[in-house]
Amino acid sequence: PSSLPALDASQLKITLADPTLRSVPTVEEACSGLETICTDHMITCSWKASSGWAAPELKPYGPLSLMPTASVLHYATECFEGLKVFRGYDGKLRLFRPDCNARRMLMSTLRISLPGFDPKQLEILIEKLMAVDGPKWLPESRPGQFLYIRPAAIGTQPQLGVQAPKEALLFITASFMPRMDLPKGGMKLHTNPEDMIRAWVGGFGYAKVGANYGPSLLATNEARERGFGQILWLYGPEGYCTEAGASNFFLVWRTKDGKTQLITAPLDDKLILDGVTRRSIVELARERLAGEVEVVERKYTIDEVLEADREGRIVEAFAAGTAFFICPVSQIHHRGTDVHISMGKTGEIGHYTSKLKNWIGDIMYGKEQHPWGVVI
Ligand code: PMP
Repeated sequence: PSSLPALDASQLKITLADPTLRSVPTVEEACSGLETICTDHMITCSWKASSGWAAPELKPYGPLSLMPTASVLHYATECFEGLKVFRGYDGKLRLFRPDCNARRMLMSTLRISLPGFDPKQLEILIEKLMAVDGPKWLPESRPGQFLYIRPAAIGTQPQLGVQAPKEALLFITASFMPRMDLPKGGMKLHTNPEDMIRAWVGGFGYAKVGANYGPSLLATNEARERGFGQILWLYGPEGYCTEAGASNFFLVWRTKDGKTQLITAPLDDKLILDGVTRRSIVELARERLAGEVEVVERKYTIDEVLEADREGRIVEAFAAGTAFFICPVSQIHHRGTDVHISMGKTGEIGHYTSKLKNWIGDIMYGKEQHPWGVVI
């Protein structure tokens, strides 16, 4: 019933860790082991169908306690988000469009029958965690660096009946992540094996639910063994290009009639994730490349890509997402055929890829004041 308590960030209970217990590693140190290194604190918030949302808690980072019969461990009642907090060159801490992540988290949450919440409250909780941990873990002496924030929600009800969980937990951690936006030689994509797809019409490819990720690792590992970084997921007998690993995929090409287009898969059919990076690229390109580059969200097939390559019409390609940011793609392998894509004059990144990356990067790091950069 709606009279039960809603998620309310103003109720946050704070239990601080002893800040002298842990020192802050460099990104390289933090990312060299087998465990993700998180900051001093996390936020947790539990929910019960009978009593609504409890007061959220900010407390020392540590293990969660779950019964072996918890819903998430059996029925994948899990969803998550990923966003970064940036230490700007002006000394400020900024989130990038956290409202988009909070709304997407709500959408994913509802898709797996976990309890709803006001996305603004999640956004405030993220800000509160970063207000506490940001100054120590992303100090002013590290302009141009970031932390990765991972909100997640799970069904915790210890009951094996297949049903919508009556108990849930939302939690937020922040951690180190290496930069992945300029791999030497560019990102190499391999199309998916014929018998494996990531998402399907009527499925949940558009939701950031854990169930989309575990099963995709098999194809990714096979591709890695062959020297490729990510899978370019195709869909249907037509071979529509959808996403590249856990990122959206963009091509810059010339059309047969000589127009320059930035093309990416559309959101209709609910096959792909509505990436915050994707959305920002589409919006900025429409605004700032108007007249020069046409921005197109439509279905296009791998055969169109192969044809454009044969005709020398591919200009650039890149993957776009929070983790990889905007990462040039240098090669696509599809069933025995390789497409090699230019990485521009520098050999590192193409002209348009670089423009878009700089525009968005400047907003993230406060070189450009923009409403997308939310100062903490
Ligand atoms: N597609 C998938 C499947 C993803 O997991 C991600 C990462 N969240 C993206 C695209 C990119 O989305 P975003 O730009 O919001 O990180």
